Amino acid sequence: MRGRTTGLARSIACGWRRQLAVLGPALLLAFACGPQLGGGSASAIEVGDDRLRVVLDFEDPQVAEQTLAAVEAAWAAGHEAFGAPRRPSRSRTVYLHRTEAAYEEACDRFVGGRFKRNGAFSSHETGDSHVLLQPNVSDPVLTRIGLPGMTRRLVVHEVAHLAMYETFAHFRSHPDWLSEGATQWVERLVERAAGGERSPWTEAAAERVRRLLEGERLPAVESIVDDALSAYEFYERYALCEVFYAFLAEERERALESFLKRLRSVKRLPTGREGTKQIAALLWRALGDREGIDEAFRAFIARQPVRWYEVSRSLEPHGSAEWIQSAFPGSSAIAFRRDQPLQPPFRIAGRLSVLPGSTVPQGNVLLGRVDDTSYTHVALREDLHSVTVFRRRGAEWSAALAEARAPGLSGEDVAFTVEVDAERMLTVEIAGEVVLRHRLAEDEVVGQWGLGVQGASSAIWSEVVATGDPPDESR
Ligand SMILES: [Zn+2]
Repeated sequence: MRGRTTGLARSIACGWRRQLAVLGPALLLAFACGPQLGGGSASAIEVGDDRLRVVLDFEDPQVAEQTLAAVEAAWAAGHEAFGAPRRPSRSRTVYLHRTEAAYEEACDRFVGGRFKRNGAFSSHETGDSHVLLQPNVSDPVLTRIGLPGMTRRLVVHEVAHLAMYETFAHFRSHPDWLSEGATQWVERLVERAAGGERSPWTEAAAERVRRLLEGERLPAVESIVDDALSAYEFYERYALCEVFYAFLAEERERALESFLKRLRSVKRLPTGREGTKQIAALLWRALGDREGIDEAFRAFIARQPVRWYEVSRSLEPHGSAEWIQSAFPGSSAIAFRRDQPLQPPFRIAGRLSVLPGSTVPQGNVLLGRVDDTSYTHVALREDLHSVTVFRRRGAEWSAALAEARAPGLSGEDVAFTVEVDAERMLTVEIAGEVVLRHRLAEDEVVGQWGLGVQGASSAIWSEVVATGDPPDESR
């Protein structure tokens, strides 16, 4: 999360790696110090004004405008969240790169070749951000869906960092709970302002922290504030920063406000442990009594709603009734509904558009989750117009349990129904026609359901609704 070296080499990396075996592709952001170089990479489109600017290295006016909207929204949320000036005092630019090669070139140029796997970085030196468009969907998909939700979130996060540079002269001294917490809080504010569904990505942090609470591994608030989280893995630390800051913003609003006000008035802070200590002292002074704060934080965690859990990215809301799911190459996107475990009889219905990608166009309806890699997999494969049922158990995949032609799968916005009756008979309907019937085993049906899309492809899921009863506790 944070590299504690000295001088020019000091850097902070935050966020998520784009490719991760278990948790799936995600984002990783980075602050970086490097040689100060002017300009950016080759630009195809520039939008914005003399203060907030977006430069794309590819031709897509729609994506350019949507990125600028995200930049503006993030800056406004930074003003609201931690008192950033209404407008930057100087030009701030977000460079959006279409390909990994172009992004890596920016890493070579601005941060000495570091952060190539990160997907995004902001430079302390130039005060600008570079973001790789991800998942790297095909051009027709990009035209269809616009700026991917995952990239929008990255842009918002990076701009929040830029707004912190502008607000706090001592931003290099900030511990992770503050720099990563506040920037993720800005992501939440922007998401709320958009008024749509809560992103599974926001819920992932809540889920990770809840698992720490349930496993009795939650650190004391004091350890978070002291930045003493080395016992936790990267994703846990990041989630702790996010949820702790959200707790302050939602449940200790006045204390947080008074802390931020004092912090803005501080002109200089030492870096490293001493800076963390001084910031902790300011926060505790604002919070007052420490009594009861751990209990309040635990209660806050327990109340966080978690509907979706993404095993691998990315599933993002798109309008009020649609979800866009896009997968990185070499890794399917998978997300389970945590709050709706089912047992037969149940029914999952909705509409599906499988969008053209670089590989197999295939959406997957998942049933009977045992764990993140064990479930029943109903593959809706558009190019072969077929439905195939598999059972996955970790690395092992069964042979096809059932397979059928489904001519109705061709085309967009196809109605589908996956139903399991009380006798565990699976019926799949495509465009109103029953195409497959197959009796499943008992261990193949009970559990959470989910949605997936095959590596490097994308799908739009609309009006997906599951109906059925939760599993009987006595089973
Ligand atoms: Zn960050």
